[in-house]
Amino acid sequence: FGFLSLTIAGFSSGGMAAEEAGEDEQLTALITGANRGLGLAFAEKFMEAGYHVIGTARKPEEATELKEAGAEIMALDVTDDKQIEALAKKLAGRKIDLLINNAGIFPKSNDRETMMKTYSVNTLGPYFLSEALIENLKLSPAPKIVNVSSQLGQLTNGQGWAGGYAFSKAALNMVTRNLHSSHRNEGMMVISIHPGHNKTDMGGDGAPLDPAHTAAKLAELVENLTPDHSGKFFLYSGQELDW
Ligand code: NDP
Repeated sequence: FGFLSLTIAGFSSGGMAAEEAGEDEQLTALITGANRGLGLAFAEKFMEAGYHVIGTARKPEEATELKEAGAEIMALDVTDDKQIEALAKKLAGRKIDLLINNAGIFPKSNDRETMMKTYSVNTLGPYFLSEALIENLKLSPAPKIVNVSSQLGQLTNGQGWAGGYAFSKAALNMVTRNLHSSHRNEGMMVISIHPGHNKTDMGGDGAPLDPAHTAAKLAELVENLTPDHSGKFFLYSGQELDW
C-alpha cells in the first residue's frame, strides 16, 4: 500500500475526479448506519471529497446531523429484506460508485438469540444489501464495496470475550471473499476494513481514534483502490491484514 503516500496530497487538496466532473459524472456513495458514529463521519468525509452521499438510517426523521451535513437520506434496517428490496427499487437505474456496509452492532450478551441477531445485522445485512444493489454498482466504471469489519473477527484473535461479534465479523470477511469471487469479472472491488478503535457509542469515550481522522484515511484508501486489492482485508490506514 505504498501508493497511499503518493496520492494523499491530491486527495486532500481537492483534486478528486468527483469534484472536477460534471453533475452526471459525480460519484455516489451509499453508506449504511450513517446517522451516527463512523457512518456519519464517513458520510461527511465523502461529501467533502465531492461525492453525492446517500446515507441510510433506521429512523431517517431522527438523522438530523446527517441531514444538516447535506446527505440524501433513505430508510434502511439491514435485517429487513422488504426494506432492502424497497431501497433497491427506489434506486433502480441510479449509479452507485461506492457502497460502505458500515451498520453494525456489538451486543453485550452472547446467548443464541442475540448471536443470531448480530449475525443478521453484521453479516447478512452487508451480503444481501450488496447483492440487491449490484446492478447499481455495475453502472459505475470502478465500483467499490467496503465492508466495515473488525480485527476482532481475525482468525488469530485470541480475545474470547468478543464472542458473537467476533464470529459475525469473521463471517463478514467471508462475505467479502464471496462478493469478490462472484463479481470480480464485473470489475467490482470488494474489501474488508478494520476501522481501528474509535470514539463512538460502540467504541466508547476512551477509544484512541477520532472518527473524522479514520474517515479521512479510509477515503484515501478507497480513492486508491485497484482490482489488485479486491478480496483483501485492510486496516483503515491502508496496511493489509491477515484474515
Ligand atoms: P455505533 O454504535 O456508533 O453506530 C452503529 C450504526 O449502525 C448506527 O447508525 C445504527 O443505527 C446502525 N445500525 C445498527 N443496527 C442496524 C440495523 N439493523 N440496520 C441498520 N442500521 C443499523 O457504531 P460505530 O460507528 O462505532 O461502528 C460502525 C461500524 O464499525 C460497525 O460495523 C462496527 O462493528 C465497526 N467497528 C467499530 C469500531 C469502533 O471502535 N467504533 C471498531 C471496529 C469495528 P441506529 O442509530 O438506528 O441504532
